[in-house]
Amino acid sequence: MKKQYKALSLLSGGLDSQLAICVLLEQGIHVEAITYRSPFFGTEKGEQAAKALGVKHHIIDFTEDILEQVQRPAHGLGKAMNPCIDCHTHMIMRAGELLEKWGFDFIATGEVLAQRPMSQNKQSLGVVARCSKYEDLLVRPLCASLIEPTKPIREGWLDVSRLPAFSGRNRTPQMKLAEQFGLKDYPAPAGGCLLTEKRFGNKLKDLLDHEGPDADRTNVWLLKIGRHLRLADDIKVIVGSDEADNNLLEAKAHPEDLRIICPDVPTPTVIAPSTISEEQLQTAAEICARYAKTPAGEPVEVQVTKGSESRTISVVPMHPDDVVQFMVVS
Ligand code: SF4
Repeated sequence: MKKQYKALSLLSGGLDSQLAICVLLEQGIHVEAITYRSPFFGTEKGEQAAKALGVKHHIIDFTEDILEQVQRPAHGLGKAMNPCIDCHTHMIMRAGELLEKWGFDFIATGEVLAQRPMSQNKQSLGVVARCSKYEDLLVRPLCASLIEPTKPIREGWLDVSRLPAFSGRNRTPQMKLAEQFGLKDYPAPAGGCLLTEKRFGNKLKDLLDHEGPDADRTNVWLLKIGRHLRLADDIKVIVGSDEADNNLLEAKAHPEDLRIICPDVPTPTVIAPSTISEEQLQTAAEICARYAKTPAGEPVEVQVTKGSESRTISVVPMHPDDVVQFMVVS
């Protein structure tokens, strides 16, 4: 009886990663999926896709890996703070470690040759494979026939003649194959990784510049929420942009952080570190008043809460032109 080979397949939830799993399942491979979680990309699409495909799904925390790659990218950064080549490499490396631990036979990804000019050209795919240390156990099922065959292909675990040969940026062939497999819900290409966004990248860079490689991990997660304003090297305040932000800030900020609001009008929640000085707190309160619905130039009451203690101070909203100097990303 023919052995059933087992693959761990990286699943972002995008079309390509779903198709890679489909073509493996079609060949009778036992497939389980891995989706990585970090402050910069989520797992929702991967979770939905795994459910739709009916494969067992593992969510693996990748925070420390990606923070390391962002700060020391052996192969450089993309247009923003995205270390794509090193990120791919480490995703495969982590999958390789799990492969050994869990007794799988090979790793699969949904990479397509030449789909991205920098990170998925032939040379980059080779670099990623080699640096991952699992080069010979890595299969890219969507373009396997176009690149150097690895062990699962050479030894016939997979029939390469039955695999697609996708290359380039044209997604029509993938969409046709998706139709054949009955895949309907797949996200639009690109997007989903905050590291590729310049504005977010600037916020992350500011945090790492000020807090260093051991930056508080809660502060890293908070980068996704609200406007960030730096009052001093060691003092940054975060201003909720809308109600959802305000609720998230309330829930996710450090318990010891100060919460600043204008209680009598529609207001943002402003979060400030407990180490803030009185003078800086005055500035933070003026900023809060600036973003609250208050009449310009008129004094307003601002409530500052720390734990179970609250007090009220009176400030004049900061002029919008004066706020700009503090903004991490304007
Ligand atoms: S886009 Fe983001 S998640 Fe994707 S490889 Fe680049 S850094 Fe990693």
